[in-house]
Amino acid sequence: MRSPILDYLDTVIEQTAHVDSGALADYIPELAAADPTRVAVALCTVNGTVYASGDTDHHFSIQSMSKPFAYALAIEDYGLESVLDHVGVEPSGDTFNELSLDPETGKPRNPMINAGAITTHALLKTEHGSSVERMLNLFSKLSDRRIEIDESVATSELGTGDRNLGLAHLLRATGALTQEPRTAVEGYIRQCAASVTVRDLALMAATLANSGVQPHTQERVFRRDTTRQVLSVMASCGMYDAAGDWLSTVGIPAKSGVAGGIIGVLPGQIGVAAFSPRLDMHGNSARGVDMMQKLSQDLGLHLMEAGRPARSSLRETRTATVDGQKATIYVLQGDLVLSSIESLVSEIINSAPGTDLVIFDMSRVDDVLPVARRTSSDMATKLINRGHRIVLVDPEATVIDFRDSQGRTVERWSRQQLENRTDDARRPGQ
Ligand code: GLN
Repeated sequence: MRSPILDYLDTVIEQTAHVDSGALADYIPELAAADPTRVAVALCTVNGTVYASGDTDHHFSIQSMSKPFAYALAIEDYGLESVLDHVGVEPSGDTFNELSLDPETGKPRNPMINAGAITTHALLKTEHGSSVERMLNLFSKLSDRRIEIDESVATSELGTGDRNLGLAHLLRATGALTQEPRTAVEGYIRQCAASVTVRDLALMAATLANSGVQPHTQERVFRRDTTRQVLSVMASCGMYDAAGDWLSTVGIPAKSGVAGGIIGVLPGQIGVAAFSPRLDMHGNSARGVDMMQKLSQDLGLHLMEAGRPARSSLRETRTATVDGQKATIYVLQGDLVLSSIESLVSEIINSAPGTDLVIFDMSRVDDVLPVARRTSSDMATKLINRGHRIVLVDPEATVIDFRDSQGRTVERWSRQQLENRTDDARRPGQ
C-alpha cells in the first residue's frame, strides 16, 4: 500500500505545476543549460523515514544550500566565538552576491551570503584533508551515501567567478579572509558544486532537525549548540533579502541554492527539500517557494504555530511489588524538556507517591535537557528528604550522578534488574 504521505507529495507537485515564473541562473553557463521542467520534493522525519516525489533521482548542484553545513563545520572546528570574530549573524537585506561588508565591523554580515560563505570555507581546518574533501565527507555523512562534485558545474562557475573573486579580494583587503582569494573562491565554488538529489537534501535537513544526529546512522554529526546556531542563522538570513517574507509565510529555517533547491528544517520533526530550477528575483526557486509554502500550510510546519506543549514525558504511573515491598514506578519516555518534566513534577506534587520505594524507569527516555536534569535531581532530593528510597532505571545514565547535600544517593538499576526484582507479572494490556 502506498503511503498517503507520498500521495500528498504528488499533489504538491501537481498543484504547483502552473508556477512557471522566474528564470534559470544564467551567470553560471552550466546552470543556464538546466532543464527548467524538472521538479522534486522530499521530506525526512527525525526517525529517518524519507518520502520523495517527482524527479527524485535527478541530480543538481547543492550551491548555497552548502553554506549552513560549512558554517556548522567551522563552528565545530573553532567554536562559535572564534567564528563570530570573522563572520557576523545579521541579515544583510541584500542579494546573495552583494559586494559589501558590514561598514561597522568590516566583516561579512552573515555566513549565508557569498562574502560570509567564502570566508567560512577558508576558515575550515585542513590538517585532515582539504576543505573541499572535508565538505564532501560531511555531505556524505549527512546524506548517508557518497556525494561527489559535478565537475562540469564547478568548471563552469570557475570560468565566470569574477564576482566571487572580487568579493574575496575585498575580504582579503579588510583582513577577513585568511587564504589567497583564488584558493578560497575555488574551494568555495567546488563546495557549491556537490551533486545531490532531494532525498540527500531531506536527510541533510533532517539531521539539523534532529539536533545534529544523522537519523539513519545515529551518528552525532554536529553538536546540539552548533545546530541551534546554524538554524538561527538560516531563519534570519537563509532566504537573503526575502528572509522576512519567508519567515512569516513559510516559517521555518531554510536555505536556497541557485540551482533551484531549497531545504527547510522544522526542529524536532522533519527536514524538507524542494527542487525546481527557475529562480525568482531574490535568487530563490520560484516554484520551490510555492511548494514550501504549501508544505508549511498543509503540514502545520510554521514554527510560530508548530510549538505545542511537548508530549507528556510520563507514560504511566503504576504500583508493583519490588523486592517484596510496594513501589511506585514512574515510566518516562521521549525527550525530557522543560514542559515535559514540569508535568512529571506536578504529578508527583499533586499526588505524592504512597510507597517508600519510588522508581523512575527512564529506559524509554531519549534525551534529557540540562533543565530537566536539574529539576529531576531537585525532585529526587525532596523525595529522599521525605524518607523515600529512590531507584533510577537509567541505562544511558542520562541523569547526572546524584548525591544530595548529606551524601545520600539514588540507586541505579538496569531494566533487567527492575524486571527480575518485580514480583507481580504485568497484566496484559497494562
Ligand atoms: N555558487 C553560487 C555563487 O557563489 C552559489 C550562490 C547561491 O546558490 N545562491 O554564486
